[in-house]
Amino acid sequence: MGIKNCPECGKLYMENPSGLCPECYAKEEVYEHQIGEYLREHGKASVEKIHEETGVKEKIILRMIKSGRLLVDGVSLISYPCDMCGVPIYEGRICAKCGSSFSKQVKEVWRDKENSNSQRDGLRMYSKDDFKK
Ligand SMILES: [Zn+2]
Ligand SMILES: [Zn+2]
Repeated sequence: MGIKNCPECGKLYMENPSGLCPECYAKEEVYEHQIGEYLREHGKASVEKIHEETGVKEKIILRMIKSGRLLVDGVSLISYPCDMCGVPIYEGRICAKCGSSFSKQVKEVWRDKENSNSQRDGLRMYSKDDFKK
C-alpha cells in the first residue's frame, strides 16, 4: 500500500482497491445508485443522456462502465462511442466492425516485423502460430 494521487480530485490518499480517494469513492457510490435507478426506470441510454439526467461527468460514467459497476442484472445498458469510429457500443473499447479491421491491421504489422527481423539478422522471432491463439 502506498500513497497515490486521486485521479478524480488530485488529492493524496492511501492506495486502495477502488483506485480513488475515500471521498471520491463515496461520491461514486451515490452516482452509481442514481444511475442504477435511472437505468431501471428508463432502460438503455447513452453516456451523454445519463450525464444530462444525473449530472454525473461522462468521464466518471465511462470509468464506472469499464470497471463493470453499472450493470443492471448483469447487463450493460449504457452505450458509449467506439474508440475508433464513434458508433454506440455497450462493451469493450471498440465496435465489432472496428475490432475485426483492427485485428487485421495488427496481423499486418506483425508480419512486417517478422519480415524485417528475418532480413536483418536471419532470426525468426515471431511464428505465424502466434496469431492462431
Ligand atoms: Zn478524490
Ligand atoms: Zn467502431
